[in-house]
Amino acid sequence: MSSGFTLVDEPLIEYVIDQADGKEYRAGEYVFASAREIAEIRMRVFDAIKREEPNIICAACHTPAYPRKHIDTGKFHFVHVSEDGENDCPYNEKRKRVDTTRIDSMRYNGQKEGPDHKLLKNILRSSIDADPLFDPAQTREEKNWYGATDEKKWRRPDIAATRLFADDNSLRIAFEIQLSSTYLKVIAARREFYLKENALLFWVFKDASGVDPRQYQDDLFYNNNSNLFVVDEETGRFSQEHGKLIFRCCYYEPVLVGASVIDEWRERVVSFDELTFDVEHQRVYWFDYKAEKAKLLETAGKKIWEREEEELRARYEDFWNNIHLRKCKDPETEYRRLRQQLLMHDITVPERHDRELERFTQMVYSAKAGEGFLTGLKTLLELANNSYLYGKQFLWYFGRVLQHYGTWDTLLAQDKNAEQRKKMSGKKHESWKEKGKTIKQKIDANDPDFKQNRSYDKLFLLLFPEITLPE
Ligand SMILES: [Zn+2]
Repeated sequence: MSSGFTLVDEPLIEYVIDQADGKEYRAGEYVFASAREIAEIRMRVFDAIKREEPNIICAACHTPAYPRKHIDTGKFHFVHVSEDGENDCPYNEKRKRVDTTRIDSMRYNGQKEGPDHKLLKNILRSSIDADPLFDPAQTREEKNWYGATDEKKWRRPDIAATRLFADDNSLRIAFEIQLSSTYLKVIAARREFYLKENALLFWVFKDASGVDPRQYQDDLFYNNNSNLFVVDEETGRFSQEHGKLIFRCCYYEPVLVGASVIDEWRERVVSFDELTFDVEHQRVYWFDYKAEKAKLLETAGKKIWEREEEELRARYEDFWNNIHLRKCKDPETEYRRLRQQLLMHDITVPERHDRELERFTQMVYSAKAGEGFLTGLKTLLELANNSYLYGKQFLWYFGRVLQHYGTWDTLLAQDKNAEQRKKMSGKKHESWKEKGKTIKQKIDANDPDFKQNRSYDKLFLLLFPEITLPE
């Protein structure tokens, strides 16, 4: 016996609507196990025609269609009952390889005949009627909406309504119920139309539980700021109880997990007056997903950046510590790597780890430590004296760190002890209190001997993020 009939490879009718449940089916979703099943469906179609009952119809031309076994291949396909359907059906346009927008449009309209669609429309209508923010005289069901600039262009939204605002403004809204599949071209054309009308197209869904928002990518869901509105019996009841048009809003909320942003699915009941309308982009939303996501991405970016800076700071100190302790196995390679990472943070350091960079590093780290650090010089005073002779160009950085960490006082105290020792041995002593003043004056006066090297500002800020540098 036959082991099942599958669909022919290029069927004329690609989709049918079963009016009994109002749903659209891809012809290939049917797999008939036996010739008898095909015959049964055929009987059902012809009986329904006689009794004028809901039938299986072609999704494009909306005339009855039934499954038939293809003689050559033994596979099945749907054919129109009437010859007119077979000749005039928009699916013929596809066969002739012309634009299929009309088929999409017809299929889309075909959905509107199902019971689900009618039920949803009734709930939506009574919910709108319950809300005094809508002008009752302007609420209309399935009436043609003619283009203001081009009367030949028109649409027939499920419900058209006018929302009134306190400042005498109003907004015309076309509500369209969307049951399952999406028809991109139809949707795009509709958006264009209502945008020209300076009106808003508002999509209403049956439920979101069966909806995988990912399949709406670049489509209704994402275009609508990741908000999706549902009406059901519960929202209908809420609308009546509160005298407001109420929806269930399903949306993504971005949340920060560590340094990455993930989307979490949320659902809540919202009333129409809580929504944001963006006619220009044909968006209406309760939760501003885009703004929130941008904010979180910025925070996440900052977190990552700060974490990297922290690591860089530690690496920089490690490098010089290893140099100081002669623990560096391959200083050239290690420095090259460090330099590369610094560059990625827009920090330029010399090509080689030269004496100047080392001196800068020893000066600022020692100033922070209050003693000689990464150097053979033991005390802060020894380092300061050495710097005064050989590191004049970095005295300004040195001073900022001394000031910030209060180690300037440590230096002065050490200096005072040294002064007393010198006095006893009769030597002349220039105090650091004096030197401090001299350094400041000479720097301010642009004395060439005290010309400051400021090419390490960025490095300095990385090493000491707690210190701000004046411009
Ligand atoms: Zn057809």
